[in-house]
Amino acid sequence: MRFLPVFLDLTAGTVALVGCSPAAVNKLRLLRAAGANVRWFCRNADMAEEALLLTAPPGRLELSVADPLRADYSEFVAVVAAAGSPLDEAIAAKARDGNIPVNVVDRGELSSFVFPATVDRGEVVVAIGTGGASPVLARRLRERIEAALPARIGDLAALMGRYREHFAKARHASQSLRQFWERVVDGPIGAAALAGRWRDAEAALLLAIESTRHSQVNSGIVFLVGAGPGDPDLLTLRALQALQGADVIFYDELVGPEILDRARRDAERVFVGKRRGEPGIGQDEINRRLVEAARKGRNVVRLKGGDPFIFGRGGEELEFLRDANVATVVVPGVTAALGCAAEAGLPLTFRNEASRLSLITAHRAEEAAETDWSALADPQTTVVVYMGLAAAAAVRDGLIGAGRAPSTPAGVLARGTRPDSKTVVGQLADLPALAAQAGEGPALLVIGEVVARSDAWRELNRDLAAKELAA
Ligand code: SAH
Repeated sequence: MRFLPVFLDLTAGTVALVGCSPAAVNKLRLLRAAGANVRWFCRNADMAEEALLLTAPPGRLELSVADPLRADYSEFVAVVAAAGSPLDEAIAAKARDGNIPVNVVDRGELSSFVFPATVDRGEVVVAIGTGGASPVLARRLRERIEAALPARIGDLAALMGRYREHFAKARHASQSLRQFWERVVDGPIGAAALAGRWRDAEAALLLAIESTRHSQVNSGIVFLVGAGPGDPDLLTLRALQALQGADVIFYDELVGPEILDRARRDAERVFVGKRRGEPGIGQDEINRRLVEAARKGRNVVRLKGGDPFIFGRGGEELEFLRDANVATVVVPGVTAALGCAAEAGLPLTFRNEASRLSLITAHRAEEAAETDWSALADPQTTVVVYMGLAAAAAVRDGLIGAGRAPSTPAGVLARGTRPDSKTVVGQLADLPALAAQAGEGPALLVIGEVVARSDAWRELNRDLAAKELAA
C-alpha cells in the first residue's frame, strides 16, 4: 500500500488547481462539492465561465490568470495540477519542495496523493484506490459498493451524530455504547431512517435514549424477512443485509439452500418448516423460540418464502413479537405470484383485459368449498391461487359455478424461479389435469384472460399451428 486513505478537511485553507482541461473541471467540481476554497489558475475565460455554471458552492472560488509557478505555495493545503506537460512537472516539483501535498492528474509518479474512486452518501464516504494501477477496476468496485450501500446511510449517520453526546450523557452506567448504537443501526430505528421515515426514526431514537436511563435491557432484534420465490437473486438488498447480520436464522421449507448460502457463514440455521408427512413444530413454538432468541440478545432472522405478509403468517408473528416487546423489522419479499408471473411472461394485469388481481388461498378442498367464488366472477379479474395444487378441481367448480367461462385461459406455475420450474397452460375446465401435469409443488394456479399472453401459451399455439400445417 503506497497511498494511505485519509479524509482531508479542505475547508481549512486554499487548494490550488492548475489547468483548464476537462480533467481540471472535473476536479474543480469534486473539490467544491467537498467545500474546498479553490484558487483556480486558468487563463481560458470561456472554459472558466462554463465551469462556473457547472460547479456549485459551498466553497469559495477565486479565478486567477497569474503564473501558477510564481504563487506563494505556503498558503495552499494542497495542489492539483491538470495543465499537461511540462507545466505539471514544474508545479509538482515546486509543491514537493514546499512539502505541499500534490496531485498531478493521471501521473501517479509525480503525485504525493491521489484521488480515490468514491461512493458518496453524505456523511458516509467510501474511498477505493488501486494505487493508480487500474481506474477501471476501481470503478467496478465502486459500482458494487454503490449497490450494496443503502441510499440513505449517510442520513442515518448524521442522525446518530446529532444524538451521540446526548446518549453518552443519558445512558445508564451499565449500558454499553457500542451495543446501543449497534441496535440503532440494525433495528427498527435504522430501518425507519433508511426508509426515509425521519420523524419516526428520530422519535424512536429519543425514546430509546430515554429508556436507557431506567433499564439495561439488551434484547436482540427479529427481522421478518421475505426470501422471494426461490431464485436467490430475487432477494432484496435489505433481505441480504439482514441475512449477513444474522446470528440465527429460522427458516421454512420454501427456503432453499441457495438462499441460505447467502447468509453469514457462522449464523446458526434452524429449520422450523413442515416436511412431508411430518407435523412440523407449530406456530406457537416458533413464536416462543423467536422471542427466546431475541431475549438472549441475538440478531434473529425469521426467513419465509415469498413475502412474509402474503399467506405466510408473518402478521401473527409480528403481533406476537410486538406484544412481547421485541424489536421487530419487516423486510418485504417478492411474493410467488409476482416472481412466477414475471418468469412465465404472464402479465397479471393488462389494459382493457384484466383490471383486478385477486390472491387467494385454497389450502384444502374444504376451504375451497367454503370460498365465496361470486366475488371472482368478473372476467376482468385475474385469480391467483396459493396452496391450490390439491384443490384444483374445487377451484374449477367454484369459478365455473360462479359464472366464469369453462374456456377461460388457466395455468399452473410450478416451482417458479427455480431451476426446475414448469408452466402448464390450458383452459379452466381442465385445471385438475393441468395441475397433475405440472408435477410437484410449490405451485400456483392462475386463471384469467392474461394467461393467454404467457410464453407457454404462445409456444403451445405455435406447436398446434405447426401440427396443423404438417397434417
Ligand atoms: N409467503 C409466500 C406464500 C406462502 S404459502 C409468498 O408470498 O409467496 C405457500 C404457497 O406459495 C405454495 O403452496 C405455492 O402456492 C406458493 N409458492 C411459493 N413459492 C412458489 C414457487 N416458487 N412457485 C410456485 N408457487 C409458489
